[in-house]
Amino acid sequence: MLNPSRADRLAGLLEFSIRSLPHPYARIFLRRIILRHPVRAMLGIRRYWLQSVTDIQEYRLSDSGEDVFVPRAACAAEHLLVATGFCQKPVPVAGKHDGCPAGRFNHDCLFLTALELGPPAERFASRACEDCFVRVLGHAALRAGASFAILTSALDVAEQILIPALELRRFTHVLMALCPYSLEPMSFALQVCCMDGYVFAFDTGACSDYREWLLADRGDKREQTGLSATGIRRLFNLLNSVAEASSQSGPSRPTVFESIDHVLRPVPGRTAPF
Ligand code: SF4
Repeated sequence: MLNPSRADRLAGLLEFSIRSLPHPYARIFLRRIILRHPVRAMLGIRRYWLQSVTDIQEYRLSDSGEDVFVPRAACAAEHLLVATGFCQKPVPVAGKHDGCPAGRFNHDCLFLTALELGPPAERFASRACEDCFVRVLGHAALRAGASFAILTSALDVAEQILIPALELRRFTHVLMALCPYSLEPMSFALQVCCMDGYVFAFDTGACSDYREWLLADRGDKREQTGLSATGIRRLFNLLNSVAEASSQSGPSRPTVFESIDHVLRPVPGRTAPF
């Protein structure tokens, strides 16, 4: 378990921020989030500064435990955002499949957009879907009644997730998997945008420096990322606890996703409740 000092965390955040200044996502973040909402920004910065981090692979956005997070997230589960990077989509495996049939650097998943919970049995669009972590995570998110996003560029994250979370309270809670290199800045941004939850760092295939991260931010990412076994267990435990605590039932229970602004939002489907 890593236990980063506050100085290390701040140094990482500063390094990322300074390198990011010339790029559009940083200007959007500064203009639309920090400058337009200075009071919330200051409160978020304070939250970030005071937050103690005991394990950088499981970054908790507030000091409250899962006994607080789970019931609150379950209370309005569609405002819980479950998200992971496009880099978790399968890459081609010789003799087996050609990688994600929806393409890699986009928000799309053929399986999840066609998914309807309950019978009939789910069908895979490709053999790549069989072992796909994105499929399993998205499916668990729908079972919990949560929203689900495949993250691409930092600019898209700012426009599709951070700003709607801050200005519309579209997302209040989050369970997110992402690159350890962007974990500090993303955790900071989520705290500034008043979101509570957990951020899990990829254990394999992750970018190791800003140059690699910037290439990935433009879609140039060959490696397939993955969480550690502990991270996967923890993420699914939290998500399954939200599903159990969620009281949604009957006709209003979400059974399908609808894509709104590139985020899959849970909505009731055609199948009778089960
Ligand atoms: S399940 Fe995975 S491989 Fe299949 S379409 Fe979705 S993201 Fe691509």
